[in-house]
Amino acid sequence: HSAQILRRIAEPDRVVSFRVCWEDDKGNVRVQRGYRVQNNNAIGPYKGGLRFHKSVNESILKFLAFEQTFKNSLTGLPMGGGKGGSDFNPKGKSDNEIMRFCQSFMTELYRHVGEDTDIPAGDIGVGPREIGYMFGQYKRITNRYVGVLTGKGLEYGGSLVRTEATGYGLVYFVENMLKHQSEDLEGKTVCISGAGNVALHAAEKAIELGAKVVSLSDSKGTLQASDGFEQDIIDAIKSLKSEGKALSEACESVNGLKFHKDQTPWQIACDIALPCATQNELNEDDAAALIKNKVRLVAEGANMPCAQSAVDAFREAGVLFGPAKAANAGGVAVSGLEISQNRSRISKPADELHQMLRDIMSDIHERCLEYADTGEDAPDYARGANIAGFKKVADAMLAFGVV
Ligand code: GLU
Repeated sequence: HSAQILRRIAEPDRVVSFRVCWEDDKGNVRVQRGYRVQNNNAIGPYKGGLRFHKSVNESILKFLAFEQTFKNSLTGLPMGGGKGGSDFNPKGKSDNEIMRFCQSFMTELYRHVGEDTDIPAGDIGVGPREIGYMFGQYKRITNRYVGVLTGKGLEYGGSLVRTEATGYGLVYFVENMLKHQSEDLEGKTVCISGAGNVALHAAEKAIELGAKVVSLSDSKGTLQASDGFEQDIIDAIKSLKSEGKALSEACESVNGLKFHKDQTPWQIACDIALPCATQNELNEDDAAALIKNKVRLVAEGANMPCAQSAVDAFREAGVLFGPAKAANAGGVAVSGLEISQNRSRISKPADELHQMLRDIMSDIHERCLEYADTGEDAPDYARGANIAGFKKVADAMLAFGVV
């Protein structure tokens, strides 16, 4: 308190905001805003994703960069916290339009990032294709081949397991939470929201570990599989989504699937809920519906998908709650492993990386538990993650004096 750590941590080190001009396929000049929030680099270079979505603004990126600081600290790897992106809406854009936007975005961003300064990655609307265009532009204008981004393609320095890492890591974290209660995933009913990289890989791993995954969702509604999704349906949805198609189209070809237009999955009865879409997607009413249906565990795959009122309701009802900064840290953790592979110019094999991800998620669970015990039955993981993540950053800041 005497060193004003909270006030210093809440104030980002730097907020960079810039204009991004690009030309659409009809030759119109378009203007977007780009940002990079460099929140805190006390324990390592700034690290965090780039989000391209029409809702992006400085306020959202500031909360994401703030949270990223503690998430990255929890991984145990030397990474500070940052986040960036643009209000560019990738929906309906052609491949060439995406390329021109990404190149223009990097033409400004390159002066603020670097392998020892700030290492962005993907987030909503930024996947391997966008990372490829941005890495290509960085290399072109700097003439340097370095690990300035993570989530890269395997041909040019990417890491195996990075694609699956957030979703798989989430399920590993849930496994740890259950194990602490002497339970496992076998036979549990799981509701998942979202149909992006996190949701689909969480579904895949949960199915592999014996759970019954009964929902996925997108902005148009919820896809329900009362008997549980099979892996081949998840594969079909992966390719559907990669073509930019809506989830509702999966219903047309597969029996036993139901599409609920304009609905979220939270009315469906389940043991475990994994919100994997976006911030504030699960409100107090959704929490009440889940609690009424006897949900036992909620873990956040997206960044802060549960409104604070929902988190409070879960806590009140004794529902185990895994906060995003711990539960979805697997993605940035494997980004950390990508950074070290780039440094030493080696590529680790998949089995080794899978094991490292599993170990990191179990270490994060342990770190949370250290501060999560409130004497009640359910450990307070939100409290545990906040304190454990904060402590390392705060101790480093104290070592630096007033800066
Ligand atoms: N966007 C992801 C997150 O929210 C990954 C960030 C990264 O790999 O740098 O943690």
